[in-house]
Amino acid sequence: MSRIVIVGAGFAGLSAACHLVGSGHQVTVLERNAQVGGLAGRLQQDGFTFDTGPTVMTMPELVYDALRAAGVRDPEQAAPMRRLDPAYNAHFADGSTLLVRDGVEAMRAEIAATAGESQAQAWDAFVPWLERLYEIEFPHFIDRNFDHVTDLVANPVAAAKLLRMGAFRRLGPLIDGIFDDDRLRRLFTFQALYAGVSPRRALAIYAVITYLDCVRGVFYPDGGIHALPQAMARAVVAAGGRIHADVTVTGIDRDSAGRVVAVCTDSGPQAADAVVHTGDLGRVYRDLLPDLSPPRMLRRPRHSPSAVVWHVGARGLPDAGIGHHNVHFGRAWDQSFRELLSDGRLMSAPSRLVTVPSITDPARAPGGCSTLYVLEPVPNLNAGLDWNTYRAPMRERLLAFLDVNGYPTDVVADQLVTPADWSARGLSAGTPFAFAHTFAQTGPFRAPNHEKRLPGMYFAGHGTTPGVGVPMVLISGRLAAARVIRQLGRL
Ligand SMILES: Cc1cc2nc3c(=O)[nH]c(=O)nc-3n(C[C@H](O)[C@H](O)[C@H](O)COP(=O)(O)OP(=O)(O)OC[C@H]3O[C@@H](n4cnc5c(N)ncnc54)[C@H](O)[C@@H]3O)c2cc1C
Repeated sequence: MSRIVIVGAGFAGLSAACHLVGSGHQVTVLERNAQVGGLAGRLQQDGFTFDTGPTVMTMPELVYDALRAAGVRDPEQAAPMRRLDPAYNAHFADGSTLLVRDGVEAMRAEIAATAGESQAQAWDAFVPWLERLYEIEFPHFIDRNFDHVTDLVANPVAAAKLLRMGAFRRLGPLIDGIFDDDRLRRLFTFQALYAGVSPRRALAIYAVITYLDCVRGVFYPDGGIHALPQAMARAVVAAGGRIHADVTVTGIDRDSAGRVVAVCTDSGPQAADAVVHTGDLGRVYRDLLPDLSPPRMLRRPRHSPSAVVWHVGARGLPDAGIGHHNVHFGRAWDQSFRELLSDGRLMSAPSRLVTVPSITDPARAPGGCSTLYVLEPVPNLNAGLDWNTYRAPMRERLLAFLDVNGYPTDVVADQLVTPADWSARGLSAGTPFAFAHTFAQTGPFRAPNHEKRLPGMYFAGHGTTPGVGVPMVLISGRLAAARVIRQLGRL
């Protein structure tokens, strides 16, 4: 039985652990925090329960695959999730609201009612395009290990199909050609920001995120997102793996042949035949592998923008038009992305996400109260903003925004998280979204998930392939596990 050490108990590490423990290896997960989940943590304050990172859950089957791999017979029961309908309430600066309904037909009816029959017909054409995009892109360009850049064209038929359907064109202009209604154009492109790129400049391949959000559905796990890493951790332990919290990995030990043999931790060494590290990749190379020059992408990386997240427990309930997830689109669009991504300034007319889990799950707030999660995209620390100065005005700005948009503002508990806080948690450039998904930082160009010069060293998580977001890092854990199994075999 080979000994595998996984560093980090976020979604990526737990995914790798589930897949590896299921293949019969001795798996130990080391996590420096007190709780599992990584960015998908849980904060409890004054009777309010907050998810600290991701709130929009798509592709639940990836969690179920991992649980099943670890031997869980009924994953849906181990980690129940319900579909949200609407997935989002989209609020526009002109005062109109559009619901992203669960189901293609329900969404068609919503579009017809709010934007007219011609836009509903555009939706009819858009959905099969998205489905086709996903079917070609997912197996060939997302859910696979890359060994060389030429792997990008390893399946020239798939690449040619994507080319023909316009997937390598820019997303914004492509969607402009499909929809006339400006609200729909925004609704079906804002997801590019999840990949750290402006909707206008992103490649149309990122419409795959729109597909997940608007067609495949958004889910809410019982107990919130943090319940998922908890369920995965239980599965790892039930299958014989070990998870140690409050342990920081400080080094990687090698034998004379240059193979990984152990990790050093603040509580002693831990023998390992293979290591899967899921921490911030730039810092892993800098701090744990200083003698190895980082892969090309990490030498001058382009980081994604960051976000301010304000967790608010408030007395009172939101107005009737507010849903579980609310996207408030600012009046400006291209200009806002220029400010955020090129000028390194706060957006003058920001678009924001407000999640109110207590609407779906009243147990998350005391009676008569609401749990709010407000996210505003902001520049990462490379822009040089001093968050000691920006912090208090940002809180005021978000409070005023909540007030005029129908949210309760009698704040009884709150925590504001800025890029400076993300940086203090060990995230390069103060962004929790790692590297932007530009073409040069995607697929085989992204930092690889194994270190060829150090046999036994693997990576998973948002810094490596396939990328950022819960579905992507769940896949990254599985892909790293596949590499380890290829090296050590399946027992
Ligand atoms: C505010 C916010 C909103 C988001 N919204 C969404 C969303 O709605 N939908 C979505 O799909 N995604 C969302 N994301 C992105 C998603 O949360 C992340 O991409 C994903 O959770 C990253 O998981 P990970 O396992 O790669 O990294 P992490 O969660 O960061 O896990 C890495 C773990 O490794 C540990 N670690 C690092 N170094 C060491 C060491 N040396 N020793 C021991 N332990 C170590 C860390 O403590 C951490 O627990 C959001 C993220 C944030 C922050």
